[in-house]
Amino acid sequence: MSDTGTYSLMVHGGAGALDNVKDDKTAFRYLDSIRRTLEHGRDVLLLGGSALQAVEACASLLEDDPVFNAGCGSVLNENGKVEMDAAIMDGRNLSAGAVAAVDNIANPVQLARLVMTESEHVMLIAEGAMRFADHCGMARVPEDYFYTPDRVEQLHQARLKHRMMLDHDDTEEDSEDQKYGTIGAIALDPAGNLAAATSTGGIVNKRMGRVGDSPIVGAGVYADNETCAVSATGFGEDFMRTVISKTVADFMLMQGMDANQATKAGIDYLKRKVNGRGGVIVIDAAGNCASDFTTKKMIHGWIEKSGEVTCRF
Ligand code: ASP
Repeated sequence: MSDTGTYSLMVHGGAGALDNVKDDKTAFRYLDSIRRTLEHGRDVLLLGGSALQAVEACASLLEDDPVFNAGCGSVLNENGKVEMDAAIMDGRNLSAGAVAAVDNIANPVQLARLVMTESEHVMLIAEGAMRFADHCGMARVPEDYFYTPDRVEQLHQARLKHRMMLDHDDTEEDSEDQKYGTIGAIALDPAGNLAAATSTGGIVNKRMGRVGDSPIVGAGVYADNETCAVSATGFGEDFMRTVISKTVADFMLMQGMDANQATKAGIDYLKRKVNGRGGVIVIDAAGNCASDFTTKKMIHGWIEKSGEVTCRF
């Protein structure tokens, strides 16, 4: 661990064509949420919070914003139900916690954190995860907490087309113009500790029981003080098959790359091996921030080495 004395923070709110962002008002709505989340995470770090606390706080805020496909804004599966996945990882010692196919929980990332700190396991799923939530005293929220009119209409459209859709996919089948609205947060604190968190509702009209990359350590999330913190968003099956987050970390570990080089190498690998769709955000141990994506856009923002807040698509 190196004491950098500065902090870095990055968050994302999904990748895709973002064709639904057709006007300044909608663009502002997304970017304002990203900005406010970064400002909140900055406050956590400036008040002495760890990278782990910062990513949990940022991910929770994004889960509470219905424009993103996580927490209250989660998409619906083939049965019209919410099934959410989330994970959190601590780069200090590779501790990790994850939950998959959970419902009735406002902040799955917080349940993932409890799996990490209060159980001897890394991942709990479905009913077992919910029982663990009860055991930890985590409040359950009613089903209508999740059912925004947009999500119900989105599932209706997917069913009409007899297909599985990705978040905010309002385009032709097989089009690249899709949005993957998962959220993620990664941080380096001034003590040199890295952490990462990712949370999602998955894919519209997905099969019951489908689990994506987001809760899989090394696929949708990864943090190791020796290399970097990574959070991914995009077509989960592509990321699972390429173990994309660990692949980026391995480019650093084995080839001495920095954040920019490793991120580019990782996305090149994703394209070359599976023509994968999506992107990653990355912070290396020196606090360098990097991002890359194969989709047209990715909603994301960062504070690099205690600098200014920057947000973009
Ligand atoms: N990666 C997520 C999944 O496949 C989707 C997303 O990023 O929006 O479940």
